[in-house]
Amino acid sequence: MYRNFSIVPKIIFGRGSFNQLDDVLAEQRVGPESYIAFVIDDVFVGKPLEKRLPTRGKDLVLPVNVADEPKTSYIDKLVAQIKAYAPALPAGIVGIGGGAAMDIAKAVSLLLTNPGSSADYQGWDLIKNPAVYHAAVPTLAGTGAEISRTCILTGPDKKLGINSDYTLYNQILFDPELLVGVPKDQWFYTGMDCYIHDIESLNGKFINAFSMAYGEKSRELCRQVFLGDYEDAADRLMMASYFGGMSIAYSQVGACHALSYGLSYVLGIHHGIGCCIAFDYLEDIYPEGVAEFRKMMERHQISLPRGLTKNLDQAQLDKMVKTALNLNPLWENCLGPDWKSIMTPEKTLALYKKM
Ligand code: NAD
Ligand code: ZN
Repeated sequence: MYRNFSIVPKIIFGRGSFNQLDDVLAEQRVGPESYIAFVIDDVFVGKPLEKRLPTRGKDLVLPVNVADEPKTSYIDKLVAQIKAYAPALPAGIVGIGGGAAMDIAKAVSLLLTNPGSSADYQGWDLIKNPAVYHAAVPTLAGTGAEISRTCILTGPDKKLGINSDYTLYNQILFDPELLVGVPKDQWFYTGMDCYIHDIESLNGKFINAFSMAYGEKSRELCRQVFLGDYEDAADRLMMASYFGGMSIAYSQVGACHALSYGLSYVLGIHHGIGCCIAFDYLEDIYPEGVAEFRKMMERHQISLPRGLTKNLDQAQLDKMVKTALNLNPLWENCLGPDWKSIMTPEKTLALYKKM
């Protein structure tokens, strides 16, 4: 069976397009009581971007903290806060920030119309009701969260996304000017998340012409951004992120993402840097990708933390291995149906011990 998947229906792209957000939201403001909730990364509190939010009437500005990757308990708290704010649901949610803030906004918009805790919906197609209208404004590029049908959450017993067609944004507003001010290391790690999406998609068993078209273009854009010298590098990186997300939407990621989930679940290591740490040890699986990644690191003088697992006890290491090896489709894409005989728990453990 071929997947019949939805994509984001409306997109604005261009420098300064943030100024059009007011017009975009006007379509959602149906009555005098209707209001918009702006879910904005709290890094922007007191910064010019916060002052530029096109708030009107009863709009709510909800700064969110992304020091930890989004947790289901945090989503539930934010949903309760919005419900307590007004008797009616907001007419729209706008998620402004990197992958974490965009995922939080997605989850909030879903949980406003679906009962219970966000933890109840971690999985595939468990959401029953359409979400509140939600729009994404990325301020960091690479995760593809703006285009994906998931929002990754850490719950009481697992790290897993809410995967559904309703998770998808209704609108993306790409304004490359918003990438200004991203710390260099973060810019690199999140950008490499995109590059690794491309490599894992292009080198996977699930590759097809659809994913190849997007993945090859995204990889080329990443090369321009991280090895070239382009004035409009931010514009290119935003498109790389979108195309990388489109590529994996119809294929899958692989070993690097599986290993980074283990690092994240046990050590709380964030997605982008976790992918970089794992990728650096995967030259056997992705020789060309890893060699190019190292060139990119060298060019931008990025050094990765080492010795992360040396103080872990056996139980923690086992949990890490289990988390990684639970991600069946990722390994199958990477190594084929026989993957269990190739990536054994012992081999996975040996890889983690090197990190
Ligand atoms: P992030 O959202 O965690 O942000 C990283 C840091 O950059 C934060 O401190 C943030 O405050 C800061 N920041 C963001 N924009 C900034 C700007 N313009 N100026 C200055 N600082 C800025 O990082 P990320 O790598 O974009 O996202 C990682 C998250 O995305 C993880 O939670 C991961 O699980 C999720 N993710 C989701 C998907 C998906 O398909 N839904 C895919 C990959 C990753
Ligand atoms: Zn990723």
